[in-house]
Parts: sequence; structure tokens; C-alpha cells
Amino acid sequence: MATNPGSKRPRSTTLFERASALFPGGVNSPVRAFKSVGGTPVFIDRGVGPFIYDVDGNRYTDFVGSWGPLILGHADPDVVAAVIRAASLGTTFGAPTAREVELGELVRFMMPSLEKMRFVSSGTEATMSALRAARGFTGRHRIIKVDGGYHGHSDALLAKAGSGVVTLGLPGSSGVTPAAVADTLVVPYNDLDAMRVAFEEHRDEIAALIVEPIPANMGVVLPRPAYLPLLRNLCDEHGTLLIFDEVITGFRVARGGAQQLYGVRPDLTCLGKVVGGGLPFGIYGGRADVMDVVAPSGPVYQAGTLAGNPVAVAAGLATLKRLDEHAYVALEGLSRVLEDDLGRAIRRSGVTARLQRVGSAFTLFFAPEEVVDLASAKQSNTDHYAKFFHGMLERGFMLPPAQFEAAFVSLAHTLEEVNAFTDAAREVLTSLATSAP
Ligand SMILES: *Cc1c(COP(=O)(O)O)cnc(C)c1O
Repeated sequence: MATNPGSKRPRSTTLFERASALFPGGVNSPVRAFKSVGGTPVFIDRGVGPFIYDVDGNRYTDFVGSWGPLILGHADPDVVAAVIRAASLGTTFGAPTAREVELGELVRFMMPSLEKMRFVSSGTEATMSALRAARGFTGRHRIIKVDGGYHGHSDALLAKAGSGVVTLGLPGSSGVTPAAVADTLVVPYNDLDAMRVAFEEHRDEIAALIVEPIPANMGVVLPRPAYLPLLRNLCDEHGTLLIFDEVITGFRVARGGAQQLYGVRPDLTCLGKVVGGGLPFGIYGGRADVMDVVAPSGPVYQAGTLAGNPVAVAAGLATLKRLDEHAYVALEGLSRVLEDDLGRAIRRSGVTARLQRVGSAFTLFFAPEEVVDLASAKQSNTDHYAKFFHGMLERGFMLPPAQFEAAFVSLAHTLEEVNAFTDAAREVLTSLATSAP
């Protein structure tokens, strides 16, 4: 596409050189480095509504939304006002505040399975703490996770599958010891037989099954009908806690998250992203009897100097207050137009690709068949994704710089941006089809 992507972005290029001397790979979170699509990252100066502007003054319609939090778009006036108001009254106290109670009650109202909860500062903390609570409550050690599911970067959850269908986890990262993942079983998504085997082979050992009810970190993958209800049954049969990691899906796919959409009540839920309104925030919570094992009510230790930070709580509260039923109808309407038009563009271009979507979260997989798990996700042509990404970038559209990620529509997007997006995508897909070997 662009002959020299850096030419439109000299400042980004220079900043990336300086950043590379400071930060590993030049970034503070790996996927930002553009490693899987090639090129160098775009440095962002500011955002407003559905748009972001880079340090060279280029504008992009943003479908990344900071990887999920920005359901209202960038610099939403309500959120900005709430943040300024809160910050001007003091940024942290290390003591309880009234707004924490207000936010907690609103979260419980929107997602009733969170009878009790604890505020933390990231999704990673939420999942790692939920596991500790589950192990403390059940007195068991082992956990099950789904292959390709992402639950933040704590050791026990950075496990990958071995060669069998059900395997004890292998370290999914250098620096994670075999001991740290020795109690983590890894099972393919959407595979009930494998899940049954995992439970049978480790009877009375499984403290928790943690799962993204709709995985979004291998790209958006939908649960097969009855998959989630049957996970619920399996957990009940075996005295295992069901943990839904709704860090992405919570307040994104429905007002009450995936658990509302599929009518399955988990024992514990992990939240982050949207619930922090763009500030560092997370929640874990669920059954009151389980949450009561957490200190100081119970023996499971977990704490945070900045947990329930007043500025983050204000941003979360301002965001959730806007998420009424109309908001989800609007998001669904807009996202459906995107799905329909992009689907048509794919078919006309003849490129092998498919759009997978739930609500305002979507992934364009360059895959030959429906993606149902990590193995089918890996069938994707990542070269095509990289070309598509750069083609869209040059036309002023920011997508996730990696195939196996979700893109997002926000309430700040309008039909105009969605139409412009699908028009540009049609062009890029057509050029992909003609340039294909
Ligand atoms: C982003 C994410 C996390 C980790 O949240 P951080 O705030 O990045 O630590 C955990 N689980 C899921 C499903 C996520 O998408």
C-alpha cells in the first residue's frame, strides 16, 4: 500500500527511536509495537469522539478504543468533567469514599451476580485475585483455562497447552516457572468433551474454571449453543467455581455482559476496561459467600494502595450511567450495518475472510472457516491481515495492529464513520484480491 509508511509520520518515527532506547520494544505493552503487522507504531497526540490524531497531525477513525474501555469514545465530556471534578478534590486517600459505594451498587444493579465485589486497578489483578479467592474458598489447587483465552499476565494464567487435548499447562512465557502453571489445565474453547475429560481426570481437584464467555483475545469467537450453560452444569456437578472473565465483554456486549446475553450466572466475575471509563481499574466479585473469604472478612489476602481510586471510580461511574438499554440498541444497530456492509465487501472481493461479531466487538478473520477456538483462529492468513491493517491505516482508520484481537464500535461513532470505514475496507479488500499470488 503505502510505499513508506513512515513518510506521513516523521514525528512518530523519531519518537519511536527515542522510546526504543527507553522501553522494551519501544512500548509499554507488547501489542502496541506493531510487531505482527510490521512497521512502527503511531504515536497518539489526542482523541475526541470516534477520532484520534497522531503527533504528525494525521486523523484516524478509531476502532481500537484503547482495546475496549472507550465505549463512549474519546474524551467524552461527561467522563472528562467527572475526572476533573474528582481530581480537584484529591486524587487518592487510601480511605473509603462515597462514590465507591455508588459505583459498587450500580455495578451490582447492572450485573446482579456480583453480590459482593472488590475494586482493583487492572484486569490482571481482578483475574489473579479471583483465582486466589476461588482457591481459598474451595481449598483446591487446580484451575482450568481455555487455550487462547487471555486473563492478564499473572504467572498461573500465562499457561499454554501441551500436545494433548487436555493438558497441564506449560509456561506461556519465558520467566514463568513450570511450577507456577503446574496447577493450570488448558482445554480448547467450545469443546465440551475435552472439558468433561479435564473434570473427570482431576476429580475434586478443580477450584475454578476461568473463561472469557465470549473470547475476544484470539479475535472474537462465539460460544456454541449450550456451551456456557453446560460449563455451568459441569462446575456445579464437580463443586468447581465458574469464573467469567468479562474484562472485555462486561458492559460491552450487553448491559449485564455476556452473562446476561447467554443467561448463565457465574460464581465470580472479573471486570475491567469499560468499567474504568478509560482509567486504570478492575473489579472481581460474585457470590457473597465466596467473596467473604477475602480479607479482612476472611483469610484470603488481597489489597491495593490505589484500589478504588477516586478518579478512576468517577470515570467508571460517569461511563456506566450512560449505558442504558438505548445505548446497546444504538451500538447493535451501528455494528450490524458494519457487519452487513463489510460482509458484502468481503464476498464481492473474493478474499477469504469472515467477520465475527458480538454487539459492538468484532474481528475480521482472514480465515477459511468459522473460528471456534484457537486452532481455527490460527488458520487465519496473518499476512492478509497485516496488509489490510496498513491499507486501512493509510486511509485513516485505526484497527488493532494484530489479527487475533477485537475491534470496537463506540457510541461516539455514527453511520457516517461506519460507512466511510466499509467504503475504505471495500477498496483495500479489492486490492488484496488482485495482488494475491
Ligand atoms: C484486557 C484483559 C485482561 C487484562 O486486563 P488489564 O487491565 O490489561 O490487566 C484480562 N482479561 C481479559 C479478557 C482482557 O481482555
